[in-house]
Amino acid sequence: MTTTTPGGDGRATQPERAPATCGACGGGTREDVARPASTYSPRGDYAVATCETCGSGRTVPVPEPEELNAFYATEYTYDAHLLISAEKRWRARHILDAALPPGAKRVLDVGCMYGYLLEEAKARGVTDAVGVELSSGPAKAASAAGLDVFCGTIEDYAKKDPGVFDLVVAQHVLEHVPEPLAFLREARALLPTGGTLCIAVPNYDARARRVFKEAWGWYQVPVHLHHFGARGLEGLIEQAGFRVERSERRGGDSLFVLMTLLQSVGNMPSSANAKAPSAVSRALVRTASALLRPYYFVGDDELLVVASAR
Ligand SMILES: [Zn+2]
Repeated sequence: MTTTTPGGDGRATQPERAPATCGACGGGTREDVARPASTYSPRGDYAVATCETCGSGRTVPVPEPEELNAFYATEYTYDAHLLISAEKRWRARHILDAALPPGAKRVLDVGCMYGYLLEEAKARGVTDAVGVELSSGPAKAASAAGLDVFCGTIEDYAKKDPGVFDLVVAQHVLEHVPEPLAFLREARALLPTGGTLCIAVPNYDARARRVFKEAWGWYQVPVHLHHFGARGLEGLIEQAGFRVERSERRGGDSLFVLMTLLQSVGNMPSSANAKAPSAVSRALVRTASALLRPYYFVGDDELLVVASAR
């Protein structure tokens, strides 16, 4: 949280924060979205500023690393995703439909969680499916299930000098990364010329964001540091040494839809509930996961970009 230091007149003053430049294009920002709702922070602690050049968003104030680490240690959990594992696998198959090169043998999934995409890739003949996952619980669970998962960041993994991959995937990772251009350059270094990159992130230009305003479920401040629009994301990917081949929009998953609906009626799902959901909550999520599947085809809450390494 923001710390205060005594000013010369004895009153507490706010310390200077880093200026909020756009994480996609480096442009200047102006505060636009008042105060998004978020599971990870009481309403009002963080806002989103919109880039005046590319239209992407930036969480302000930019949280300090220790502030973020506290959220990841106490509030942030993937547990709810276990309730919709069938939907996660289904979405992973769509990612592979869009991005897996014919005959691909080596696939790297950065932010692989429980390894759903890795298992689907292996089922398609990928012999070397590797995951990178920062969160130790899901990384251990995926390893215990027989998957090849490295616990750490993409930078840590690259230091192992693992060679190059046919496809590098990062789903809902880039918006969490303090330096997204550096992340994409690491991904570029793990691909040969002509290798494929697939990035999925929440879409800041989504129609539902305009309809539901601050209740839109993928603001997730402050753990989402960046809120990419297509223009900003595509420009950033090109800048990192790629040529954009495909840029699509799809609906968010059922957890996103439930979060948006609950927040729109002022019901903030608490992270405590997410860690130990009641039987009723679990049944609600499972039912929603089945019923809301077609939203994938009509919504535009997620950007999916497939690019080739130049
Ligand atoms: Zn920008």
